[in-house]
Amino acid sequence: MQNIQKWIEKIPVMEDIVDLKPTVWINPNKKTDKEAWENIDFTENDIYEADQRLRRFAPLLTEYFEDTEESNGIIESPLRKIEKMEPLLKETSDIKGNLFLKMDSHLAIAGSIKARGGIYEVLYHAEKLALENSLITLKDDYSELANEKNREFFSKYTIQVGSTGNLGLSIGITSAALGFNVVVHMSSDAKQWKKDLLRSKGATVVEYDGDFTKAVEQGRIQSAKDPNSYFVDDENSVTLFMGYAVAALRIKKQMEDLNIKADKDHPVFFYIPCGVGGSPGGVTFGLKKVFGDNAHVFFVEPTHAPSMLIGMATGLNDKVSVQDFGIDGKTEADGLAVGTPSRFVGTIMDTLLSGIFTIEDKELFNYMRKLNKSEGIQIEPSACAAFEGVVKLFEYESAKNYLDKYDLMDKLDNSTHIAWATGGNLVPKEVMNTYLETYL
Ligand SMILES: *Cc1c(COP(=O)(O)O)cnc(C)c1O
Repeated sequence: MQNIQKWIEKIPVMEDIVDLKPTVWINPNKKTDKEAWENIDFTENDIYEADQRLRRFAPLLTEYFEDTEESNGIIESPLRKIEKMEPLLKETSDIKGNLFLKMDSHLAIAGSIKARGGIYEVLYHAEKLALENSLITLKDDYSELANEKNREFFSKYTIQVGSTGNLGLSIGITSAALGFNVVVHMSSDAKQWKKDLLRSKGATVVEYDGDFTKAVEQGRIQSAKDPNSYFVDDENSVTLFMGYAVAALRIKKQMEDLNIKADKDHPVFFYIPCGVGGSPGGVTFGLKKVFGDNAHVFFVEPTHAPSMLIGMATGLNDKVSVQDFGIDGKTEADGLAVGTPSRFVGTIMDTLLSGIFTIEDKELFNYMRKLNKSEGIQIEPSACAAFEGVVKLFEYESAKNYLDKYDLMDKLDNSTHIAWATGGNLVPKEVMNTYLETYL
């Protein structure tokens, strides 16, 4: 346990956090683009490299996944204006600017943001093995990796991952398709349908009583016992992180196509649901590289699992858990049910991130119904956290102070707000229907 009283004196917002009251933490360490990168080792080039690797694999992905055919093996989601949702959010908040939905909920193969990092890391590992063992060269058509002999080669290797669900789906589905053995270590809060789906694809699912942190720990231990096993480490993986970051290059192009300006007079706000921090962190790293000071990025976490907020606000990062603050980590947002944040994401976000909102579970379901009713789009509860950022930016005093501090108040009519819908497309219809009636 931490000395909670001491932390509240130092960081007043911690009082709301331990009381489980929805709130916002504004990052006092955020820096301008000129200074923000001084202590960050990764560069824009790392993102371009990841993008190139994904392009090399595009022909192979079309071999295995029908839903990537139309885009020639490039996995990307639509950016959609959600005009009909706007008035529903404006019922309770004085929102200004234009509202968009980044629909990672509908990404091919995995139906969540994990289709970015997760698939990328499996491909990264497959390429490394394939190059080291001369199955291909960098110049070859990678669809060769789908032939019998190469699949046989991959079948001697195992990929393992610990997950609350969606990362497991992404890694499990992709690894099995390429011919790897794959073991997914799942926390007790992982949904039954996700385990069923994985098993149907040929993945081995191991279940644990504990939370996400325990599943990851067990996965790491089991994988270390086998020299032919590779562990995808959601808490520490730079490879995952770079896979997520590629999103920024893609959305820049989409914004240009939609005539969405991002400049000094046209600020763009992004709101991304956060669990262990890898996916929102990777995307944010990319967005800040691409848009600099014109991008204002906020994470959103459940009031019962504000792990990244506590890690960043205290500066203790992965040395602290929500349980250390008497918070149980239990939430309906299974993708965000994480007690301890990533080891390295918090330190990279330190100078880049604008802040973190927290949301109550019941609000996730209210946003979900509003989106379904107005736009006919279904996303999972975790993903709905994004809307809380849009709404509360215009409501909380400390958020308004942020807008003031960065001289944004008179630019809000020209602003764009992008809610990052992180998952939903693989949720079975019956489960989605139950969600739509939860917390009514
Ligand atoms: C995994 C996930 C997140 C958060 O990603 P982290 O890398 O754990 O921070 C958000 N939403 C959904 C639907 C997810 O599956």
